[in-house]
Amino acid sequence: MSAFGFTLTARDGAARRGTLTTAHGTAQTPAFMAVGTAGTVKAMTADQVRATGTEIVLGNTYHLMLRPGSSRVAALGGLHRMMDWPGIILTDSGGFQVMSLAKLRKLDEIGVTFRSHLDGSAHHLTPESSTAIQHDLDATITMAFDECTKFPATPDEAAASMRLSMRWAARSRDAFTPRPGYGQFGIVQGGIYPDLRAESAAALTAIGFEGYAIGGLAVGEGQAAMFETLDATTHLLPATHPRYLMGVGTPDDLLGSIARGVDMFDCVMPTRAGRTGRAYTSRGVFNLRNARFADDPAPLDPGCACTLCTRHSRAYLHHLFRCEEMLGPMLLTGHNLTYYQTLMRGARDAIETGGFAAYAATAREGWTQTDDR
Ligand SMILES: [Zn+2]
Repeated sequence: MSAFGFTLTARDGAARRGTLTTAHGTAQTPAFMAVGTAGTVKAMTADQVRATGTEIVLGNTYHLMLRPGSSRVAALGGLHRMMDWPGIILTDSGGFQVMSLAKLRKLDEIGVTFRSHLDGSAHHLTPESSTAIQHDLDATITMAFDECTKFPATPDEAAASMRLSMRWAARSRDAFTPRPGYGQFGIVQGGIYPDLRAESAAALTAIGFEGYAIGGLAVGEGQAAMFETLDATTHLLPATHPRYLMGVGTPDDLLGSIARGVDMFDCVMPTRAGRTGRAYTSRGVFNLRNARFADDPAPLDPGCACTLCTRHSRAYLHHLFRCEEMLGPMLLTGHNLTYYQTLMRGARDAIETGGFAAYAATAREGWTQTDDR
């Protein structure tokens, strides 16, 4: 079994090209991870997810602890076997979803007490229990339990929240059982305040993790503030370890963040948009519900190698969404993930040849061609 590792093979400015090695195979970085909330990337079989070029799937601790329960997942052989994904799985810590979904939350130094949004049952999530649940799920990459600082937050509020997360990060690390090929990432918090981000990065690197995530962004601060925060943060993290920007983002967010030294991303955008008729393409975003596609025989994105673009017309996809046929979300989710993965593969190739800035400029030029806002 391989040890958990990260090898940088090229740099282009601050952009990095690397390979992540784990017990469940390797992933090329920069990498986009498909969100598989409840043990499935919605509307996709595992084979279809693999065919998009996806190498890492993300599972959500909050959802899986409630249904089907982490001990049941463990009894079924772990999340890899349960969902037929022998590749790399990263699980979040549950903290973000507790804050966004659960009812009657109560947060203290120990952890968070909450009621399930499904049936009102009472639960307690702590750094220790979150880490144990992620162990039961057999996550290749376990995330430290943290509080996602609300936005906006005053400097005092952001500091108190970040310092709580750093105490929780130390407890999460103590609760983590090291195994060959498995890793745990700490999460930098601190809102949009560079001094707090620096304090958080120093606290996490003193604890020592296999990778470092940047949390608490894309929560309403806007792209400019997000990029400023990355500029103040990524260079403080160990160059030898992977950096993961949580919950981001649009294709433009990804390219801008890669340029600032981020290696890994996850976001619901391509999969969620795929279920509502929104297409991410090399020519920008299209809404396939728009009546102007009713008679359009062209492929959605002529350069794309996915099933939708090679076998079907825009008119057919428009028809499927108008009729609310299941195949519409299935085909478009496959396309959107393929587009994201193709964009990332292009970024990796461009970093290797020192052409990342030109690659990003060409992609951005392409996105302006849509007239379908
Ligand atoms: Zn396609």
